[in-house]
Order: sequence, then structure tokens, then C-alpha cells
Amino acid sequence: MRTGVGVLVAAIVLIAARAQAAEPVRLELKPNAKGVEATFILPDPVTRFALEEPVEDVRGDTWRLQTPGVVLANGVVSRADGGAFSTFSILVTPDSQPRDRRYPALTAIGGGWQIYGPYFKAAEGVVEGRIVSPKGWATAPAGAGDRIVLDGYVYAGPAGDITAGPATFVAGPETPAIMRDAVAKAASQAAAYYAKRLSVELGGKPTVMIALVPTFNPGWQGDTTAGPVASLRFFGPQAGQMDAGDADRAVGFVNHEFFHFWNSRTFRSRDGAGEAWLHEGMAEYAALLAAREAGAMSEAEVGEALAGRLTGCANTLKAKGLATDPPRRGGGVYDCGVLVQWIADLRVRRTSNGSRDVFDLWRTLFADAGRSGGQYDSAGFLALAGLSDGDADEPLRLLMQPGAPDRWSRLTSAMEAMGAKIAPTRSGEAERRTLVMHVLDQVCKGVRGYYGGDPKALKLDTGERCGALNGDPSIDAVAGHDIMTDVHAAFDAAGPLCAAQGELVLSLKGKAVGSVACKAPMPARPMAWTVERWR
Ligand SMILES: [Zn+2]
Repeated sequence: MRTGVGVLVAAIVLIAARAQAAEPVRLELKPNAKGVEATFILPDPVTRFALEEPVEDVRGDTWRLQTPGVVLANGVVSRADGGAFSTFSILVTPDSQPRDRRYPALTAIGGGWQIYGPYFKAAEGVVEGRIVSPKGWATAPAGAGDRIVLDGYVYAGPAGDITAGPATFVAGPETPAIMRDAVAKAASQAAAYYAKRLSVELGGKPTVMIALVPTFNPGWQGDTTAGPVASLRFFGPQAGQMDAGDADRAVGFVNHEFFHFWNSRTFRSRDGAGEAWLHEGMAEYAALLAAREAGAMSEAEVGEALAGRLTGCANTLKAKGLATDPPRRGGGVYDCGVLVQWIADLRVRRTSNGSRDVFDLWRTLFADAGRSGGQYDSAGFLALAGLSDGDADEPLRLLMQPGAPDRWSRLTSAMEAMGAKIAPTRSGEAERRTLVMHVLDQVCKGVRGYYGGDPKALKLDTGERCGALNGDPSIDAVAGHDIMTDVHAAFDAAGPLCAAQGELVLSLKGKAVGSVACKAPMPARPMAWTVERWR
């Protein structure tokens, strides 16, 4: 036994010593007109070279091996003839489409590129990246000389696209001034506000990048990486024609993503996937408070936003418990997450006579997390938020456990007892979603949905999966009623038509787009509320 252990220890020391002595892989990123050519130079010849993240969908899409005889599959580079190699080059061009919960590898900004560094890391050993760029280019976040850090997004492009400030800001000349200004201001304000309210300064200076991608379907996407970097990407041919509404949405995004620098990067949720409502909910709720603090939203606008979250959560969660059957993706994560934070905020304000709010709760949660490896969880949060198992009408308990349909009226009553003013109403957005998804359910096999970027019409996502509605048509009316301006009438008209197994006609600007035989009764009308006072 003793000998065995001794040998094992010696072996580990030997491996550790060898790993330390191993020379790094050198990576040269050379931008060209199409994208970025990535050349890997290995210290020794190998027969296979594995990349750290196996993102086959991203690499299979736009990564092309430039070295004859060398292939890339499932994140592994090898020679087709099985032989050894010590260098290879890959031309990486911009991702051809946005992907859910996946970082894009390469996105154009101005005359340069936003690169997602971790896709270039090796499964074993260190990769040292450097950029081989034209004169006048710079990187953000800045590395030492031409070195780039591969831990998150890095921008390489003309130095004029990078602006220094309390947050470093990257945008090309294609980004309208209204957007540049709104985002730059929000980034500075959010960083200062969160640092003050949480009593925690960020480890590094944040960087914000803005990209326009006119070739994608309308919409937008954003995410954060180490660095800390926030990336905002606006899609569609109209992406460059931004108005004040787009700027406001971008401010909300910046406020949301910046909170993740604290609750997902400085501290971490112990079960980020299972309890996504916890970190996403506070990022979104903190964004509302930050916008209110900066004067970017009025009291009424915050109330409107919270009404939308309450409505969204009620219609997603229905009778399920947030603790027992939590949503793991989609709107329910955010809607129910915000509702939890709002309830906690009401309680903190109530019990402190208005001298404290939910940020004080998170400051305590983070301080506790700092003593246990930087992690926090819903148990710790709910204990601080006053979750009570004794009282059947305690609002957090009503939300966490499965409940009868009347739980939602009991929940809003309990919130009113804590100072809010909430009234039932009808929701255009929720009824539009229920109606259109019901129509699609009648004819689609597989993925279905719609894009909501255009205020005048919905573009359906039907592909070749929805029979009469194939080909992603746009619609603005169902059953003879405009679903953008008069959706309640459309919803009410569809009920009797579906009950009688009749036809639902879809149209655009008065012209029929398709007709769907409704075989199933319409779902119940979605619940909805307005919020007159939220604190
Ligand atoms: Zn988020």
C-alpha cells in the first residue's frame, strides 16, 4: 500500500513538472477582408489537437481549414492520413446566424472584429494569442503589446473604434450616434451605481461592444464574458436605423448585463442552470432600479415593466412551483425571476420603513458568498428575503410551491398588503402570443415561433415545418382582426371559430397569407395585470 502511494505521488509530481515545462501553443490571429485567419503553431508535432470547447455548430458553420490534408471535426484537428503536424491555419468568417445560448465566434464591428477567445483555447495546455494586425489597429480589452487574452470577447480593429472612459467602448462608424451616446452613458452610470449599492468594486474595467448584423433576421442579442466585456448585437436590415426606443432598450440591456459582472462573474450562482431565475431575475430587476435612478424610466414605466413580468410569470408558471419545477430557458426565467426580486424588494422596503431596498439584501448575500468561495444560492437568498413556510399566503411561498389557480390573486393581494397596487386587466402581448402559437400548433411539426421586431407585422418562423404557413410569412391579422393594434378582438373571434373547428384566416395588409383549420379549442385567456404602484 505504502509503496503504491509513494509511486503515485512521484508520478503526479513528474506530470506536474512536465506540464509546467511544456511550451505554450502560439496562436496568430491575422485579420483579412473576410474574417480572421487563425494559425496555430505547436511546440511539438502531434497527431491530434483538441480545442477546449466542442462547439460543432459554430465551427461546422464558418470555420474552414486552410492547411492541405488537415481536417477539423468535433473540436479535434488531425491529418486525414493520420500523420503528425505542428502547424495549421483556420479561416474563421462571421457566424451565419445567431444561436441561442451560444457565443458567436466572430462578429464584424466597424472595420474590425469581435472575437470570442475561448473557442481558440486548447483542451490541454496553454495557448498564447497575438494579433497580427494592420498599422493603426488596437485591441480591447487591451493586452500587453500585440498579445490578446483569450478568456472572453476581444475586439481587434481600427483604434478609432475604441473609446476610453469609465467603461471602454467599442463601436464602428455604422452605429448611430444616438445609440453610441445612450450606451456609453448607461455603461458609466450602471457601473458606478452597482459598485456603490453593493459596496464591491469590479476587478477590471468593463468594456462594451456594439455590433450591427444586417444579414440576420430582425432582433437582437447580448451577452457578457470575462474581461469583463458586454456585447450588444442588433440584427436585421433596419438595424442601422435606430430611434430613441431602440436606445432605451439598449440602456436596459446594458443595465442588465452590467449587473452580471457582479452576480455572475465576481460572485456566482451555485446552480446557475437550475436556478437561472435567481441571477437573471436580479440582473433584470437591478436594471429597472438603475434606469429609475438615472431618470431613464419613470415610476409608471417601471410599474408597466413589472406588470409585464407578473403577467408573463403567471402565464408561464401557471400551477407549477418555481422551486419544484423552475423554467430553465425562455421568458419564464426572467419574468418569474423579476417577480421574486420585486416581492423581496417590497418586503425589505416595508420592514426598513423605506430606508433599505433589495440591493441591501444582495450586498449581504454577496458578503456571505465571499466567505464561501464566492457562491450564493436560492436558499440563502430566500432566507434573507423572508420566505416563510408557516404562512400559506406568504407571497414567496405561493410562488415557490405548486399551487391552485387562485394562487395568483392571493399573491397579488399579499403584494398589495406590502404596499403595491395591482389590478387585473388584459394583455395584448400575452394574448398575441397565445393566439399565434395556437395557430402554429395546428399546422407545425417541430420548431415554431415568430419574430417580434416590427411593430406593424409579425414574421412567422415556420421554415418547411408548418404546411400552409411554410416560408416564414409576415402577418398582421388573424380572423379578420389586426393582431398588432386590436389583438383582443382577434383573440375573442378565434375562440368560437376554434370551438366550431372552423378556419382561421391569416392576412397581411388585407391580403390573405394562409388559412388554418383550427382543430383544438383556444387556450384560456392569459392572465394579466396593471401596476399602479410598485413600491
Ligand atoms: Zn442575463
